[in-house]
Amino acid sequence: MKVFPLHEGSYSVDSSKKFIPFDPAIHSPKDRPASLFVYVQPFLIETSDSLIVIDAGLGYKDDDGELIIHKNIRQAGYHPGDVNLLLMSHLHFDHSAGMIYEKNGRHELTFPNAEYVINRHEWENAYSHPSKSYRTEIFDVVQRSGSIHFIEGDGRFNDKITYEVTGGHCEFHQVFHLEDKDEKVFYGGDILPEPEQLLRKFKAKYDFDGARAMELREQYGKQAADNNWLCLFYHAKSEAMGRVEYSGDAFKVIGEQLGR
Ligand SMILES: [Zn+2]
Repeated sequence: MKVFPLHEGSYSVDSSKKFIPFDPAIHSPKDRPASLFVYVQPFLIETSDSLIVIDAGLGYKDDDGELIIHKNIRQAGYHPGDVNLLLMSHLHFDHSAGMIYEKNGRHELTFPNAEYVINRHEWENAYSHPSKSYRTEIFDVVQRSGSIHFIEGDGRFNDKITYEVTGGHCEFHQVFHLEDKDEKVFYGGDILPEPEQLLRKFKAKYDFDGARAMELREQYGKQAADNNWLCLFYHAKSEAMGRVEYSGDAFKVIGEQLGR
């Protein structure tokens, strides 16, 4: 299994839920009052029979008008058209906006040959609970494409991929386990978005159920340590991938490079 973080950039976000590019080398946090600072990186995974993207990013383009995620996939040595699975942890804007993009005034799928794997209840919630976090105009385009593969609950997608509904961050948030040969990869989405979240206990305001999310972080952290999972961190500032150690009631994350 080869894993590549597809770093899309860093952003500030305030109560408007708009993501504005933030480069710490140029911008000062003082100019973005009451903002959270968010790093975004989907992942590209090659198994022996699939090319997989996990979560779709923001769908931002570079100065030449090319999607950053497409550029990153090419730089890793692959073609966006070869991606055959897009696994979605949940549908909040910063994970789902990049499912589609605009090209010559038309909306296109970012991964035209991929099945878009989405939890059915998360999809229904996005439509029945409109909010700034769910942009249904994006989902309308995906639905018309006929590319969706809905899943529900916990289960096995194929011989290498399993999924679990966790709740916590949003009601039907899900996580993915990938196993190929001896390598075990864990994608915790916004339950385990960055290594720092394992190092201290806290309830986050942005979680649907903060207590549950905190419990899950600890639970997955311990399982990751016990099973030597390679953990992928979507919102990591520094280490996008790492293995977890747990001893004396404390976690440690050892960063890892793989695939490059
Ligand atoms: Zn989210």
